[in-house]
Amino acid sequence: MLTRYAPSPTGHLHLGHVANAIYVWGLARAAGGRVLLRMEDHDRIRCRPEYEAGILEDLAWLGFEPDEGLSPLLRQSDRDHIYRDALEGLRLTHHVYVCDCSRKRVAAAHYDGFCRTRGLVEGPGRGIRVQSDEGGDLLLRDRDGHWTYHFAVVVDDIRQKITHVIRGEDLRSSVERQLCLRRMLRADASLTYVHHRLILKPNGEKLSKSAGDTGVRELRRAGLTASEVIGRAAAAVGLVGSPRSIPAASVDKLFSAF
Ligand SMILES: [Zn+2]
Repeated sequence: MLTRYAPSPTGHLHLGHVANAIYVWGLARAAGGRVLLRMEDHDRIRCRPEYEAGILEDLAWLGFEPDEGLSPLLRQSDRDHIYRDALEGLRLTHHVYVCDCSRKRVAAAHYDGFCRTRGLVEGPGRGIRVQSDEGGDLLLRDRDGHWTYHFAVVVDDIRQKITHVIRGEDLRSSVERQLCLRRMLRADASLTYVHHRLILKPNGEKLSKSAGDTGVRELRRAGLTASEVIGRAAAAVGLVGSPRSIPAASVDKLFSAF
């Protein structure tokens, strides 16, 4: 079993990220598996080096140690050639085309294939799509020249031989799209998805990276220990009945029945 912890350096870690780390490390360790760290910084506009450094520091403070990907640090922004290569491979078997539709025009859930036969050439302000009969033509690179989240993640999961993807249930709706891309890219191994509960605010919204009251740094500054922060996140997703001290090294015990 090889799973991954894949934060985006667009903000600091909060309790929601800690909950995900508990599931990732807990399930991996309980199964004798390994954890790969992957910095998902494909969006170069929103990512910041100081967030990357902050995430690494917080993870180390919490005690979650990746088995791979930390040194050297595995970053999507260093893997442009890998995505290019995957795109070239995709062209051999599928209709890959340039699309200049605005986000507004594509507001519907499934892209209608407007640019499929327009024969546009690549250039600034133009994205790249692949024709798919299953759920709308998928965007692989956006109009700003960034590889899309789905494409980068699916290529990485295949190339890095990830066997289990463990993530919040807010991403459940992307499984179909990602499995479709996986088939197009001819992944030979299967992938298991595990979706877990999210920590919600009292009004039912997801935590955001600006959530000061749940940020790892804020809790640390308030005097909580790493084990207390982990215990608080575990309680918030119902893994334990009430907040208690849980060291990172024993999160596997929360999943002994898995
Ligand atoms: Zn288009």
